Amino acid sequence: MRTIAVLNQKGGVGKTTSAVNTAAALAAAGRRVVVIDFDPQAHMTIHLGVEPTAVQAGAYEVLTESAGFESSLMLVRPNLWLLAANINLVGAETELVNVVGREIILREAMQGCRDKFDFCLIDCAPSLGLLSLNALAAAEEVLIPLQPHFLALQGFGKLLQTVDLVNKRINPRLKVTGVLLCMHDTRASLSNEVRADIEGFLDAARGTNSAWDGAVVLPAFIRRNIKLAEAPSYGKTIFEYDPACNGAEDYRKVGNFFLGISDEPEAPPEPEQSQAEPPVETQPQAEMSSASVPIEIREVPQPDAKIETPVHDEPTEPAQTQPQAEPQASVEETPAGAPIEIREVHVPAPTRTEPSAVTPEPPAILPEYPADSSGV
Ligand code: ADP
Ligand code: MG
Repeated sequence: MRTIAVLNQKGGVGKTTSAVNTAAALAAAGRRVVVIDFDPQAHMTIHLGVEPTAVQAGAYEVLTESAGFESSLMLVRPNLWLLAANINLVGAETELVNVVGREIILREAMQGCRDKFDFCLIDCAPSLGLLSLNALAAAEEVLIPLQPHFLALQGFGKLLQTVDLVNKRINPRLKVTGVLLCMHDTRASLSNEVRADIEGFLDAARGTNSAWDGAVVLPAFIRRNIKLAEAPSYGKTIFEYDPACNGAEDYRKVGNFFLGISDEPEAPPEPEQSQAEPPVETQPQAEMSSASVPIEIREVPQPDAKIETPVHDEPTEPAQTQPQAEPQASVEETPAGAPIEIREVHVPAPTRTEPSAVTPEPPAILPEYPADSSGV
């Protein structure tokens, strides 16, 4: 079984949509697929048409060992099983705080049935807390959905460091498979610029022996498509809701990526497009791509690795455009008791220019989706 953690500590980037619809694509292709709802908001559970209050045995019960993994799976579609979330999951992180080996509960619970399924996709909560650590400990792969707006890369370095530390301390098989661009607009030069930034960053990591040295930006990307936003409220996957829409087409391609089937090449976002952009858009972009933030990986007690990752700086707008505060530095203990400390050395304060006559408008694509719709 290939176990894939769908992870990004930001909310609203497309994790749940991607986990549900990629799993549905794989199940439709005849693979036996398990999905795990590891977000207390239970969006995946609802998206698949299951009422969270009706869930007697789900992710929480498995984590607290009051139910078994396999016996808690619900067959929700042909070839598709769900380990659902219910409201109890909200308390899991605090309840487990004193449990020895709490990061590997899911991994151990899944042990007995790895041969029975082909894929497992874990929809992670928008945090890098204990639930996400359990997902990373149980997985071999990480898929990072990312919405290419100008704050997209803020926190990206920290996310990769977390994966790297779990790889070094808890799960040596863990690798970042790739970044999935969601709500991608190939006509917007900003989307293309974020894509180019990530590709450059990942290319620079080749051969570095980090957990992301083989990661790619997936050739398939997800276009903004209203059908994808509508389908969850009907409890349907995109293939049930509108199998002919762009969203269904795009997630079929993501499924094919994981099946190793190559689609005819996408027309990749072309640089000429950005040249063709009206000059008014080029100014904020140039500003945004110029900043980088030093990130330090610190494995206590061996602080040695240091990387720089591109992080888009705050535009010259007031702070309300930064909806996602950086998570606090976190310290987790491995089963061996060795503490892992993850911290960004410096997170830039919003760059405030002196009030000037001209206040640039934020790019038009930014406000349509909140960077964090989670509230968690
Ligand atoms: P996350 O799980 O990371 O919080 P979601 O998958 O729930 O993100 O997506 C956030 C919101 O954006 C949801 O309302 C979802 O329906 C919508 N959405 C996701 N992907 C797309 C897309 N490609 N086009 C339009 N809306 C989308
Ligand atoms: Mg979600």
